[in-house]
Amino acid sequence: MNKAMHPRSRKVRVLATLGPASSTPEMVAKLHAAGADAFRINMSHGDQESKVPVIQAIRALEKTTGRPTTILADLQGPKLRVGKFAEGRVTLATGAAFRLDRSSEPGDVTRVELPHREIFEAVAEGARLLLDDGKMVLRVTGYGGHGGDAWIDTRVEVGGTLSNSKGLNVPDMVLPLAALTEKDRSDLAFAVEQKVDWIALSFVQRPEDLAEARKLIGGGAALLAKIEKPSAVTRLEEIVEACDGVMVARGDLGVELPPQSVPPLQKRIVETARRLGRPVIVATQMLESMITSPSPTRAEVSDVATAVYDGADAIMLSAESAAGAWPTESVTMMNDIADSVERDPAHGDRVHFTVTKPDPTTADALAEAAKSIAATVSATAIICFTMSGSTARRIARERPAVPILVLTPKVETARRMGLLWGTHAVHTKDVGSFEEMVAKAKRMALRHGIAKAGDRVIICAGVPFGTPGSTNVLHVVPIIGDELKGRN
Ligand code: PGA
Ligand code: MN
Repeated sequence: MNKAMHPRSRKVRVLATLGPASSTPEMVAKLHAAGADAFRINMSHGDQESKVPVIQAIRALEKTTGRPTTILADLQGPKLRVGKFAEGRVTLATGAAFRLDRSSEPGDVTRVELPHREIFEAVAEGARLLLDDGKMVLRVTGYGGHGGDAWIDTRVEVGGTLSNSKGLNVPDMVLPLAALTEKDRSDLAFAVEQKVDWIALSFVQRPEDLAEARKLIGGGAALLAKIEKPSAVTRLEEIVEACDGVMVARGDLGVELPPQSVPPLQKRIVETARRLGRPVIVATQMLESMITSPSPTRAEVSDVATAVYDGADAIMLSAESAAGAWPTESVTMMNDIADSVERDPAHGDRVHFTVTKPDPTTADALAEAAKSIAATVSATAIICFTMSGSTARRIARERPAVPILVLTPKVETARRMGLLWGTHAVHTKDVGSFEEMVAKAKRMALRHGIAKAGDRVIICAGVPFGTPGSTNVLHVVPIIGDELKGRN
């Protein structure tokens, strides 16, 4: 059998960001072989044209591996940045005065442009401005002027080197910023046109932010909310309900809030997403030291392991795979950590520390029953037929001990599964009858190495076939071994 036909037994998904270190077809294939189930394309860097060959490389890879592969386009969102300096950078001395204004003149050691009118409108004395991921801190001492003459005076509380267009966080102000910038709208349209599977929205502040993106996407991709603002945490439940998946974006979250508040929030976000049945990604600095070193710190290994024990759907690599010196090694390391945790006999119990009580729906009742029957009769897999992927989501939410084989006639659905815990998606023709369903389930389980002769599997489907959201059948069947002989 072809190597690619063997499913990965790993349940947590690995999402690798692509960038200058990993955008060639060869590197994409290497990262996939090392364990990446899904790829993130960061729209914050590079232009749209540069993303086309990367997307094409992933789609070409699907043909050679025979596996649906997930593409996530990550929109930059309303990221704040300082202007530019005459000399490219300045050194801000702790204790010095520094002014921010609206003049597009190149900056120096006394001032720089701040190209965001909203900050001048929301500023208050004593507020902090955090520069370059919080490496430098400015404290507002005064402000004044109007329109193009507005200014903010600050005292440098923590100095350092500030270079052109560095990021800025203003945790002490709520800014009246639109969720989608002009650039985001253009990037979103591009991502939909390129048929990416997921679109991530950065700096989501309110559930309404998602409604607008949802309308623009128009069903062309699933919608992911990045939780990286304190205001998003305040309305977490509503935001999770309004999207198809979430990311614990610890980078910006840990700048806007003290870093020690991130671990409890990570637990809460993962728990909320799992309870509401939305896939959740834990992201940022997971193997940070591997940007420059071929091996991670023990603390990083432990951090990845914790996310797996918490039952996150996916774990993400950022610069490690996008711009570091060891992209393939980073993916391999993440894969190996996940494997090791999932082989721990205590893993199942720890994952079920989060209670996911079923909703009072037939689909949820069947999903819960499938997990429990699988355990009782020692079935080797749960096989589900799904159009939209919602049945697969309900089953994955139960975190069953066995793999979930997802059979779908929609390639888009198969591709979206790459961020969903425990699933192995197969794009295949729809079935027309109960007998055909059973025969196909057995055949696919055998062909994809999910079950073997003598095993028992559980089938979940909706009858009549082809009606989304109608899951109402749960069938336990033995695998005899001669099922491979069928067509397709
Ligand atoms: P970013 O998002 O990498 O796009 O900034 C993730 C984060 O902030 O953690
Ligand atoms: Mn971020």
